[in-house]
Amino acid sequence: MFDKILIANRGEIALRIQRACREMGIKTVVVHSDVDREAKYVRLADESVCIGPAQARDSYLSMPAIISAAEVTDAEAIHPGYGFLAENADFAERVEKSGFVFIGPRPETIRLMGDKVTAKKTMIEAGVPVVPGSAGALPDDPQEIIRIARDIGYPVIVKASGGGGGRGMRVVFTEGSLLTAVATTRTEAAAAFNNPEVYMEKYLENPRHIEIQVMADGGRNAVWLGERDCSMQRRHQKVIEEAPAPGIARKLIERIGDRCVEACKKLGYRGAGTFEFLYENGEFYFIEMNTRIQVEHTVTEMITGLDLIQEQIKIAAGEKFTLRQRDIVFEGHSIECRINAEDPFKFIPSPGKITNWHTPGGPGVRMDSHVYSGYTVPPNYDSMIAKLITYGATREQAIARMSIALSEMVVEGIKTNIPLHRELMQDGAFREGGASIHYLEQKLAQRP
Ligand code: ADP
Repeated sequence: MFDKILIANRGEIALRIQRACREMGIKTVVVHSDVDREAKYVRLADESVCIGPAQARDSYLSMPAIISAAEVTDAEAIHPGYGFLAENADFAERVEKSGFVFIGPRPETIRLMGDKVTAKKTMIEAGVPVVPGSAGALPDDPQEIIRIARDIGYPVIVKASGGGGGRGMRVVFTEGSLLTAVATTRTEAAAAFNNPEVYMEKYLENPRHIEIQVMADGGRNAVWLGERDCSMQRRHQKVIEEAPAPGIARKLIERIGDRCVEACKKLGYRGAGTFEFLYENGEFYFIEMNTRIQVEHTVTEMITGLDLIQEQIKIAAGEKFTLRQRDIVFEGHSIECRINAEDPFKFIPSPGKITNWHTPGGPGVRMDSHVYSGYTVPPNYDSMIAKLITYGATREQAIARMSIALSEMVVEGIKTNIPLHRELMQDGAFREGGASIHYLEQKLAQRP
């Protein structure tokens, strides 16, 4: 096992990884920017290294800064968390070339899955069902593009091959707006992802977002750890996640889970990963694979009793893979609310000093957060400041516990989306379960 791990991330996930390490007796090094100097997890870490100014470009995204921090502290492995460099194949490669272990998949796998066109092709070959669409990237010929869209049938969605984080996508309802949409998405994709390649898919009008968590050892061993329903979204960003997904037959889920495991074995996949699907009328359609730990891994931990970060670390250290599919038991129900520093209904970010922070507790309540009373939320990064997770024997109990937890929670000094979460816990469609990915946007649009 490793003696020391460097955490190349910030916020709640930096603390989460640190906790997993401490339990395993592994020392931690945290890298941080100027503005994160006072963060709790920086003080709790065994060592910390300031790697640059607030702008992520010059700190959390600076590969040389992170690698030198690992060198000066004698860390053996680097955990990238999520976001920042977590799915950057070049970073994974540089980490390994510099003699450190990258806690994640092989660089080639990250590269393969990071290109959505190649990822889709790979899934088709592995027998994973995908959204019907263009065979590969769109050609330049406008007539050909029009023909492809007609074949798929409107509405279609034009997506950047290198896209991520809900960006680089455009829905097209009529032929008249197709070519402009393709051109705009290409320009945006070239600027944002350094890759102008785009592809086209059928736009599913009422799907749910269901994803499968996998864990694999890089060889012939792989397991799936159940599904998550992440359909409560705004602007393609997840707001609430839960496991298991309500109202889907176990047989269907098991069949898709087995396909994902097969795909992992074919790929020689290593570490934690997520296969994201859209689910409509009893069918699953692959959209992308995330080659990292996800924000919502917590709900899977709650229903499986596993520590996914520790599993990642064990795999990276080359320990014998002991997870067996038959030993994985799903019990109860878990829900996660992402608490963001933002206006709950206008969604304008609300950084600043938290003057009062009171967190809930009680049975089945888990709070993953790095903030505290007196902490200043910097304006430079993602607005998520906490993840509130509840567990119950049933979905009803998990919702009840979430409602109580949200009612107990007090945050003063900044705005948060807690009022939105409180409202959603009482929402008829949410309580019933199975709402589509468009539900939240539609509900918000109806607000006076
Ligand atoms: P990203 O990598 O940016 O997260 P995804 O391919 O995972 O991109 O898509 C993100 C979200 O966009 C999905 O959860 C869904 O809400 C929407 N989406 C993507 N593809 C489609 C599609 N074919 N039909 C309908 N919605 C889609």
